[in-house]
Amino acid sequence: MTKIFSHRFPHPEPVQKRLKLLPVFLPFAGCPSRCVFCDQHAQTGLGGLRLEDALEALRDRLAREDGGAFGLGFFGGTFTGLSLAWQERFLELASRFAGPGGLVHLRVSTRPDRVDAESLRRLRGSGVSMIELGVQSFSSAVLATSGRGYDGAVAAGACDMVRAAGLELGIQLLPGLPGHDAPLWREDVRRTLALAPDVVRIYPCVVVRGTGLAALYDRGEYAPWPLETAVQESGRAVLDFWQAGVRVIRLGLAGEPGLLERLLAGPWHPAFGNMARSLALRLYLEERLSGLAGRVSRIFLPSRCGGELWGHGRDNVEALARLGIVRENVNFWSETDIAVELEE
Ligand code: SF4
Repeated sequence: MTKIFSHRFPHPEPVQKRLKLLPVFLPFAGCPSRCVFCDQHAQTGLGGLRLEDALEALRDRLAREDGGAFGLGFFGGTFTGLSLAWQERFLELASRFAGPGGLVHLRVSTRPDRVDAESLRRLRGSGVSMIELGVQSFSSAVLATSGRGYDGAVAAGACDMVRAAGLELGIQLLPGLPGHDAPLWREDVRRTLALAPDVVRIYPCVVVRGTGLAALYDRGEYAPWPLETAVQESGRAVLDFWQAGVRVIRLGLAGEPGLLERLLAGPWHPAFGNMARSLALRLYLEERLSGLAGRVSRIFLPSRCGGELWGHGRDNVEALARLGIVRENVNFWSETDIAVELEE
């Protein structure tokens, strides 16, 4: 007689908070210099935006909010590099909309070398809930080659300061900077995990025309990671972050038309996030199912896995078949767990 064994285990991705986040882009505002890889004008689709205009646009945008809870984030520059007066103008405007049924989450992005205990205390007092740090890498050698102007110790210290200030922590990572390789990236992932951020963004490094990196690329002094490497390394990292309870809220740069026009080289793909997430899911299933006695007769997955299980371009099909997961025995359901029936 056939014996059936059932295994039930959670999907590894932490539950995402469902909150509308209004992004306010302040391209290069407060930045001490232009980083070698960065073109915020291309990435945000905004040209030389004046702060007065950004403030006015935010005022209009907030006035149009319809009463539901929402979050607001200042991105695209170095918020704490702005003059205090400008920081206060933006934060004071936001504070007028704060409260249940209004602005419930406020975040700013900045550089690790532009925060200190005093500035973080002030931001928290002004209603900021999360700091996203553009760490990029914890490798001092990579940071030096990329001209970031701080080292790994400063990056880690900034993360600790954010936590010590009672703020949520976001870490932005940029695999594939000059001098960055897979072992250094894996070390970055380990160091990030040790700092227990709330959220992570992963932006594999691409070459945008007009940046310092483009000049290095043109001279043959820089080669971006191939897409395959970026997907493999990001996918593995995504699983590590998920299993540590860290939400991965962005994978790859958004496909702004301005970015795509100026993209010279590098691992950009419109489905990059799907590719990395699909790999993470496949690695997780391999981890959970390899070595179990029996053959998969049925598997049930949360319906949200439907777009990721088989992988972009069906990349996961072969590996899943080795686990006994084939189209005929896959079911999607409304539960959040994964359940497997194995028969002897
Ligand atoms: S990477 Fe950050 S600090 Fe550097 S130029 Fe871009 S926005 Fe400014």
